[in-house]
Amino acid sequence: MNAMSLAAGRPVIAIPGPSPVPDRVLRAAHRASPDIYGDDLADLNLAVMTQLKRLAGTQGHLAPYIGNGHAAWEAAGANLFNPGDQALVLSSGHFGRSWGQQMEQMGVAVERLDFGSLPADPDRLADRLARDTAGAIKAVMVCQIDTATGVMADIPALRDAMGDHPALLVVDAIASLGCAPMMMDDWGVDVLISASQKGLMCPPGTCFVWYSDKAAARGRTGLTTPYWDWHARAGAEALWRFWGGTPPVQQIFALDEALRMILDEEGLFAVWARHAALARAVWAAVDAWGEGGTGIRLSVEDPMARASSVTAMVVPGADALRAWTAAHCGVTLGIGLGAEQPENALRVAHMGHANAGMILAALGAMQAGMAALGIPHGPGGLDAAARVLAEPA
Ligand SMILES: *Cc1c(COP(=O)(O)O)cnc(C)c1O
Repeated sequence: MNAMSLAAGRPVIAIPGPSPVPDRVLRAAHRASPDIYGDDLADLNLAVMTQLKRLAGTQGHLAPYIGNGHAAWEAAGANLFNPGDQALVLSSGHFGRSWGQQMEQMGVAVERLDFGSLPADPDRLADRLARDTAGAIKAVMVCQIDTATGVMADIPALRDAMGDHPALLVVDAIASLGCAPMMMDDWGVDVLISASQKGLMCPPGTCFVWYSDKAAARGRTGLTTPYWDWHARAGAEALWRFWGGTPPVQQIFALDEALRMILDEEGLFAVWARHAALARAVWAAVDAWGEGGTGIRLSVEDPMARASSVTAMVVPGADALRAWTAAHCGVTLGIGLGAEQPENALRVAHMGHANAGMILAALGAMQAGMAALGIPHGPGGLDAAARVLAEPA
């Protein structure tokens, strides 16, 4: 006999990737492989490439790959750098740091500006670049949202800070594309990196690198290998060349459906606004729970620097709370990745296919769990979230 549980029913996954995949997207992918040499699939692939450029806000180049976010990092690195080239990595958490490490392992001379769990400071960037009078720094690299800390960088401000320095601006938008504003061309981003399984609402397995003419002009570098060469993919005509071999057929159907939902049905501005509102609801709940010195608090103090796709927080007893919400409510919360005390930290994702009901479910389960486990928390968390959601759009 099992003990009574309230976890039956549709699970709620509030982890920051892979994010929930809409049933429509799953159904679109659920098909036998068609003829990969036929025109239909080639045309669909081209349409998806066009949609992906709309999503990024660019008329530039796009190279798709089969792989996850780490693969996209490597793809960009293999096209940007010669061995020993200098890169400046601005990090605000685990992902920025491990991106820098991966580039180092590829043979890039990585210099770090580490901002802890604060957003990258444009003034510090400007100071550093002003001292690089020889223009040795080839690229400035930054995560738009660092998914571990929930910090959001101000990309236009960083671009401004670069002034006339010739370095390329390379942005990891894996946790932000389709969640937070991105206008690659208008903002002067040279290289943009993302993957299918977060804001794009698709299963993991494909990733994308968009790049400007200025980045393209770098040509093939000493690190460019045939598989990762972005020129070959961006300039492809035959379907297999886009993907360096067999195309990820089912994923192309999934992407087509998901991008239609984002770009053509809901609309990108509405999608960004939805993410921002859901994020504010989570912040309001956490602020209320933190009243009275309970020790519960958001990891990022400045609301302007908070991510719209994921919220990191300190909750004493977070590990027990996550276990409780999963076992008793069917609600899975994100681990406190990279936190000072991971056992007392967690993350709530509001990323991709997420609505107010799902966010209230996550917050409600948390509040129930805090009551059940005796975790001290200020009153009115759910009410505060509901008030935010009640605000006119
Ligand atoms: C998830 C994520 C990655 C890594 O992506 P994987 O698909 O896990 O390889 C890199 N950067 C950011 C900002 C992410 O959110």
